[in-house]
This record gives sequence, C-alpha cells and structure tokens, in this order.
Amino acid sequence: MYIIQHFIKICYNIDDNNHERGYKCFTYNNDMIYDTIAAKTTADGVSAINIIRISGTESISIVNEIFKGKDLTQQPSHTIHYGHIHDHSQVIDEVMVSIFRSPKTFTTEDIIEISCHGGNFIADEILKLLISKGIRIAEKGEFSKRAYLNGRLDLTEAESIMDLVNAKSFEQLKIANKQLQGDILTLVTNLQNKILNIIAQIEVNIDYPEYDDIQQLTNDMILPRINDLITEIKQIIKESDTGKIIREGIKTVIVGKPNVGKSTLLNTLLKEDKAIVTDISGTTRDLIEADLNLDGIILRLVDTAGIRITKDVIEKIGINKTKKAIETADLVLLVLNQSEGLSEMDKDLLNLTKNKQRIIIGNKIDLGNQISIDNESIINISAKNKEGIEELAKAVKQLFINEKLLNSERAMLSNVRHIGKFKEVLQALNDAKKAALDQIPIDFVEIDLRKAWANLGEITGQSSNEDLLDHLFANFCLGK
Ligand code: GDP
Repeated sequence: MYIIQHFIKICYNIDDNNHERGYKCFTYNNDMIYDTIAAKTTADGVSAINIIRISGTESISIVNEIFKGKDLTQQPSHTIHYGHIHDHSQVIDEVMVSIFRSPKTFTTEDIIEISCHGGNFIADEILKLLISKGIRIAEKGEFSKRAYLNGRLDLTEAESIMDLVNAKSFEQLKIANKQLQGDILTLVTNLQNKILNIIAQIEVNIDYPEYDDIQQLTNDMILPRINDLITEIKQIIKESDTGKIIREGIKTVIVGKPNVGKSTLLNTLLKEDKAIVTDISGTTRDLIEADLNLDGIILRLVDTAGIRITKDVIEKIGINKTKKAIETADLVLLVLNQSEGLSEMDKDLLNLTKNKQRIIIGNKIDLGNQISIDNESIINISAKNKEGIEELAKAVKQLFINEKLLNSERAMLSNVRHIGKFKEVLQALNDAKKAALDQIPIDFVEIDLRKAWANLGEITGQSSNEDLLDHLFANFCLGK
C-alpha cells in the first residue's frame, strides 16, 4: 500500500496541504505576483452607492494615497473606515473603505473596497485616479479568475458564482450554492481517486514486478472496478437531467389553432401584457419569447402564430417558425378548445407533437368540456379566468423534475460543460472496459483510464488550458 501511495504522489504531484480540498496539480500557485486591478462591482446607472473593488499587493497603499482619513496601511484586516477620496486639493467623494488583507480574501490577495456615492461620474473619477496611480482596470471575471488561479476556488465553484448572480428561482439558487460549497469538486475528486488507485496499481505492477507482496494484476481483476465506475458515472449523467432543467430552464413552445387562447395563456403565465390578445384570427404572427418562473421551474416560452394551412406569406413564415420551434423545444404546450370538439387542425397538431414531451391543455373549460382523448390526460384550464394553472405547473414538474433528487443532499450536475465532460469520461471508461475485455495488455488499458482521470480534472480546472479559462471567465460580469 505504501508503494502505491508513494506512486500516486510521484506521478501526480499531489500537494499534501491542498489535498483535502482537492487542489492539486494547478499550474499556478500563491507565489505568482499579479498587478493590482480595479473595477466597479455595481451595475451602471443611478443608484444610492457604488462599490469599487481593488485587488493586488499595492491595493491598500495606493488607495491610501488618495484617501483622507486614517492611515489605511496601518489598519487591521476586515475593518471599515470613513473618509474622503481626493485628487490633490479637489475632494471627489465622501466614502467608506473596507480593508481585507491577504490571504483571507476572495482573491487571496489584499483587497480594498471603496463604497462611494452612486451614479457613474463619481465612480469613473475614482477609477481614473486609481489608473493614474498605476492600477489597471480588471477584465471581465478577473477577480474570480485570480481566486481560481490562487487556489481559493476550483473552476466549478467559480462558475457557480455566475449561476448565483443569474439565478431566477430558489431551486437555481440552491444548486448554485451547493456547487459553491464544493459538492461538484468533492464528487469529481472522489471519482478521480478511484481511477487513480487503479492506475497506481497498474503502474506498480509494471515497474516493480519483482516485489513478492505485489499481486500480479490482470485485466479480469480491474474489470469489475471499471464496471463499477461506469455504473456510477451513468447514474450521475442520468440524474443531471433534473439539474440541467433547473439551471437552463425548459425551452417551451405553446401551439394551438387560432383563437384557442394561446396568447391569453401566455399573458396569464406572465401576469403581464407582452403578447397581443385579440378576437381576430392570426394576429400573433411573430414569435414572442419570455422567461417565466412556474413554481420554481423556468419555462423559456415562445408563443407562436399557431399552425395553419394558408397562402398568406406572413402567416406561412409563422407556420414554418412554429414547426421549427416544436422541433427544438423541450416541451410543447398543446392548447385545445374545450368548448368545441376536436378539429382537423387539432388532430394534425396532436400528430405532429406525438413524439415530443408535451402537455395537452383543454382551455376555455369555463365554456364547456367537450374533449377527451384515449390514453392521454388533459389539463383543463381557463386561461382567461386564471384557473387550472397550478395543475399545469404540477404536470410540468412531473414530466421533468425528479423532486426526490432535488431535495436530497446528493451532488447533482447542472452545468452543460460539466455534463459534457462526464460524457467524455464515460467514453474513456468504456474504451478501457473494451480494452480489458479484449485482453489487451494492462498498460494500454491504463491509457484510457488516464484519459478519464484527466477529463475529470478539466471539470475542476485541475488540467485546464489557457483558452478554456479565458473563455469561461469572459462570461463573468465586470467586478466579479
Ligand atoms: P390565440 O389566437 O390562440 O392566441 O388566442 P387568444 O389568446 O388571442 O384568445 C382568443 C379569444 O379567446 C380571446 O377573446 C380571449 O379572451 C378568449 N379566451 C382565451 N382563453 C379563454 C378562456 O379560458 N375562456 C374564455 N371564455 N375565453 C377565452
């Protein structure tokens, strides 16, 4: 066992101090010196206050040069101070300044935050002053990137910060918070350790065949362990469906013949007048898109002109768009009119959507209940009277969400990048399995296992390349 542990360390250069957090093999470390950066962390426009964040070795001393009040260089960490920012004799603003000293900060560097009055002018003047003292304006996501490069966060935790900022529901918040606390990092690190143990045993067998206490390793011996990993990864990918839906929302299209109540339904769901509702057939010609929080699930709605056979050119554009929208949608809400029987167009639409995830809605239930369909349940509503919407929300959840999983403490993938990487891991493990079954020498099986291990490392950023990092952090907001 000692030899195996020794090997893991030599091969993969695991840093003992960071091992528990899973930080190993990072290209960068705390010894790297970065320049001092600044950015406004609050959004543009008029507001009560703005906060300017400055990070880097010179942050405190430079702000001290433009600050009238206490000597900031002498103040302890995590303290806040009243004073004025000035440019020589010109006072720019009355401010509060917060000091956070390295290493217990977001970037692990010295950070200072200036809370000044709102509006763009004051913040811009302070930033100009900071630039004149040698501070650089931060790029998008650069603070988070430094937090990652300095080992304060892994990539999944850094990504979760943007998920927190973009959250539109408590469910999204819950997943992002769990990710920020490191649940994906732990999941990935545990899987990596399992793979690493197999790799290490193979290595020991190859390099120390003369040791008596080392069992001769065969493909048959490692096959069950590869199979266990495959089963575990398949389950994680399967369970990611719920996570992905929570994070990304459900791309939903509302279809139905003219005047069935699609726009009314959309308005009821949105509780505001975004679509034009009218009695004349065919006026909802353009696709109207909107995000909607339906009991914690985000529906990314597209209202359509409905499908109808017509020679009218504009209408035809609407029809083609609808067919395309059905093709690309995750969910179709097919609206029927309960005050009439099924029409030919209803039947066409039922046929067109039969292989999609769909919910059949019987609208205008206040006027009648004429439609029932064999082996299909209909959610009856009155879009106009706002009735039946709760049942509709329940039906959507039933189709897409594994509530048990959502409420459990288990780590759940939600980010498309992570899910894609897990699929690559699965492929590499399947290749390893095939090689083992074909009785190919175990050092060749090891190549696929190493690939699976490295793919997992790309999720947390352990083996990320520069391009990936630049791309990821460019999606952050300024000041994050
Ligand atoms: P669309 O062409 O499918 O978008 O249909 P609209 O939403 O424009 O609705 C057509 C007409 O049906 C309007 O006069 C609505 O007020 C009416 N309508 C929609 N939903 C209901 C409902 O649940 N009950 C009743 N009685 N009328 C409705």
